[in-house]
Amino acid sequence: GFKMGIVGLPNVGKSTLFNALTKTAAAQAANFPFCTIEPNIGEVAVPDARLDKLAATAGSKQIIPTRMTFVDIAGLVKGASKGEGLGNQFLANIREVDAIAHVLRCFEDDDVTHVEDRVDPVADADTIETELMLADLESIEKRRAGLVRKLKGGDKEAVTQDRLLAAAQAALEEGKPARTVQVDAEDLKAWKMLQLLTSKPILYVCNVDEGSAGAGNDFSARVAEMAAEQGAASVVISAQIEEEISQLDPEEAEMFLTEMGLDEAGLDRLIRAGYELLHLETYFTVGPKEARAWTIPAGTPAPKAAGVIHGDFEKGFIRAETIAYDDFVTLGGEQKAKDAGKMRAEGKQYIVKDGDVLHFLFNT
Ligand code: GDP
Repeated sequence: GFKMGIVGLPNVGKSTLFNALTKTAAAQAANFPFCTIEPNIGEVAVPDARLDKLAATAGSKQIIPTRMTFVDIAGLVKGASKGEGLGNQFLANIREVDAIAHVLRCFEDDDVTHVEDRVDPVADADTIETELMLADLESIEKRRAGLVRKLKGGDKEAVTQDRLLAAAQAALEEGKPARTVQVDAEDLKAWKMLQLLTSKPILYVCNVDEGSAGAGNDFSARVAEMAAEQGAASVVISAQIEEEISQLDPEEAEMFLTEMGLDEAGLDRLIRAGYELLHLETYFTVGPKEARAWTIPAGTPAPKAAGVIHGDFEKGFIRAETIAYDDFVTLGGEQKAKDAGKMRAEGKQYIVKDGDVLHFLFNT
């Protein structure tokens, strides 16, 4: 599955957010409830109204949303790259995630200490980014030194690695994160394997006071501006409100949101923003037993998409019977879509589209 790491300075609201994410009634109601793998790792159902529509159309007994994993990565402080705070442990945690949700304190509260004694989310973002850049620089130097012997031997993989590491190093030495490096398509795999901390996409999460949960405030506006400059994404959320909502059952939560003048829980927006950030898409399998959502990266060919369900589906792939979401719902289900000529047989080259309802045929 896909993993988002929650990072941020101490006392910005990371744990509050993580608890809200993983304890929410929606997460628990889902057939794959949130489960704590470790105290700081939780799985969350990805909200998708289309799945409910599909299930209603097909009369599916069960609804199984797709999931995203969140990891609460504590211990990021100034000097972390030099081993301050939890140091290396948290750096290792960040290496393993697909994207970073960077929580920034955008609320004033004299009772909650700020490590720098001031509320300045843009400066905080910079502090953390600097630590991550320093950590990357250090690991790049070590790794390049370790490659010298292989390079002399003409090892092809080592040559590619060293070339990519050198490009990242040049960017970092100019004070730019590794994600600013232009990487050719054929190098993408090797680039990802480098697991550079500053190559991961970032979603800035502005933790605002309760009154600003809808429109945001001056702090979050400055973060949005910074995010736009970096080509990053940002969302406004009040971790405290989300934590309160997470204790309510779905109807109560709905009423609470209406009272607050919010049309959607912030967590739903956060999860969807993560999905967009990672260029993820959803396809569905729908039958009388269950309607289920599956996550794939955008641009995934049908056999690979089938492999998300089971490796055998990919290996023995024959074809995918495909109905677009709109056709399935407006025509009234699989048989009716088929009768209307809206079911297509797609082969190995087919690139799955967001919202496709798929049925795979495969050899065993
Ligand atoms: P972490 O260190 O980043 O995990 O931060 P916590 O989630 O433990 O939050 C630190 C403190 O800030 C706690 O006392 C929270 O109750 C408080 N806090 C978190 N979010 C908000 C918020 O949106 N508004 C206010 N006023 N306090 C918050």
